[in-house]
Amino acid sequence: MISFDNTEIAFKSKSSRDLKRSYLLFKTLAHNSLVKVGGALTQSALRVHIPVNWIVKPTIYKQFVGGESIEECAPVVEQLSNFNAKAILDYSVEGKESPEDIQAALSETLRSIKNASSNKNIPYAVFKPTAFTTAKVLEKVSAALPLTDAEEKEANNFKQRIETLCKSAFDQDVPILIDAEDSWFQKFIDEVVNAMMAKYNKKKAIVFNTFQMYRHDRLEFLKESHDMAQEGDYFLGAKFVRGAYMEKERERAEKLGYPSPIQPDKESTDRDYNAALKYCVEHINRISVFNGTHNEFSSRYLTELMEDQGLKNDDTRIWFSQLYGMSDHISFNLAHAGYNVAKYLPYGPVKHVIPYLVRRAEENTSVKGQTGRELSLITKEMNRRNGK
Ligand SMILES: Cc1cc2nc3c(=O)[nH]c(=O)nc-3n(C[C@H](O)[C@H](O)[C@H](O)COP(=O)(O)OP(=O)(O)OC[C@H]3O[C@@H](n4cnc5c(N)ncnc54)[C@H](O)[C@@H]3O)c2cc1C
Repeated sequence: MISFDNTEIAFKSKSSRDLKRSYLLFKTLAHNSLVKVGGALTQSALRVHIPVNWIVKPTIYKQFVGGESIEECAPVVEQLSNFNAKAILDYSVEGKESPEDIQAALSETLRSIKNASSNKNIPYAVFKPTAFTTAKVLEKVSAALPLTDAEEKEANNFKQRIETLCKSAFDQDVPILIDAEDSWFQKFIDEVVNAMMAKYNKKKAIVFNTFQMYRHDRLEFLKESHDMAQEGDYFLGAKFVRGAYMEKERERAEKLGYPSPIQPDKESTDRDYNAALKYCVEHINRISVFNGTHNEFSSRYLTELMEDQGLKNDDTRIWFSQLYGMSDHISFNLAHAGYNVAKYLPYGPVKHVIPYLVRRAEENTSVKGQTGRELSLITKEMNRRNGK
């Protein structure tokens, strides 16, 4: 059985100085009130154009982000590959929807696909579909509301942009992950992604949809997606995450008076997450799995399912992934044991990746629980290095 306890393997890629920096950062993040105030202050500073780079870049940015551009990420990609882990470059500019911003996101994502095609240490490309049209259009189409002519045109433009990206990924043989965000955008996104899979996944999974298992309807949707793939004779690319927007989802549902799409409790999310992994491994001839989690049980469970099915550790249809800067004990112990591992490596200008950093900070407060684990692992490794 795989163990995630070996901190020597987990932190081999980190100098003692890096470890100390991570320790101080996680120690700071442990204070919930500091994270709340810090996040709000940073966003306000940005709004009134007060520079925040000097404080953000050497601290939280350095922990969780690869660099401002694809080129700046190259040393990090190289460093990860020295320890058998790959990287997925994620252009993390969020919440922009002017035509110029959409065009810029399209060009940048095409560049990232091309970059992945020429670097064996970058096994996937990725994008957020919300970068390619307006929130209004995604929401209205998903809710089947009547569209104006201009919105109709914009919905078609969105489909075309996604097609451009998927075709480019297919032509260059780079599997591409399509992230999931708010549930009220997802119906339209699912339709478009399913159409892309039907077109480009005939020989293997190139296009991957994301299943957020904190939604109570996603296990059923996984089975439906699998049925569609069987009927259409194509491969299903399935990326799994628990989901990052739980509070926002619940608040909106309550405010607008509809049933929350989120599971009633954490146990239900965990149950469906693990059931989804099991379902996929049992149908591995049709489904490729991307396991995006920091949960030790779900990571270990997938290795056990693979063993039960007699699959090799490096079966190309199964990947494990954690975010850069988090859960290295899972990533590097899996990579050391020969499993396919890729770190999600966000990149982008400091001021544009702030929403991503705020989410990471919130996920790492003591309330959410990750920080205690990171801190105790780092402390264990610092003690080991100091011969304690
Ligand atoms: C490689 C990778 C890619 C990612 N891509 C996406 C993406 O495309 N879209 C996205 O939304 N997120 C994405 N994420 C973020 C991801 O959703 C969070 O990191 C994840 O939810 C944290 O959960 P965990 O699986 O690590 O496990 P854990 O820490 O065990 O679980 C925490 C999660 O469980 C769920 N949960 C917690 N409490 C409850 C409760 N009371 N009721 C119901 N559910 C609960 C929430 O989803 C919470 O985030 C990605 C993460 C990784 C590692």
